[in-house]
Amino acid sequence: MIVFTRFSLVELSVQGKNFNWKKPDICPSCKSPRLWGHGYRLARFVGFVVALWLKRYRCDSCKSVVTIRPEGYFKRYQSSSDDISVTLTKRLSNGKWSGSHPRQRSWQWLRRFNNFVRIEYGDDNSKVSLLERLTQLHTSSCQFLSELA
Ligand SMILES: [Zn+2]
Repeated sequence: MIVFTRFSLVELSVQGKNFNWKKPDICPSCKSPRLWGHGYRLARFVGFVVALWLKRYRCDSCKSVVTIRPEGYFKRYQSSSDDISVTLTKRLSNGKWSGSHPRQRSWQWLRRFNNFVRIEYGDDNSKVSLLERLTQLHTSSCQFLSELA
């Protein structure tokens, strides 16, 4: 289980396991306030040479393990959702890849976006405007990435 919170990846990279994590108030699964530290998990993010330690908590009531992830980064993605949106918007606008992301990763994002469009909206030729709409909604931007991961 993942809880997304706002924190600085730069600060985390400097402080490592000494980072001052804010414990979630309640378990996202059973709403119990009894969460205890449960170690760390390594995760990679674009822009950082080494993997970063993400804090984990365990619920004393339902035994769920909760990992804290930064807002704007979906599970299993090293790039931020904003980076992904910008990359896909440029690609859909002018047909060219831009940015510093590996080409294979960018193609994977585009495939998932196309699958999302096909499933949610049928065949739609205005993918750019759809992507812009999704980006404006922010919380649901790149929702397709997490749903089709
Ligand atoms: Zn729980």
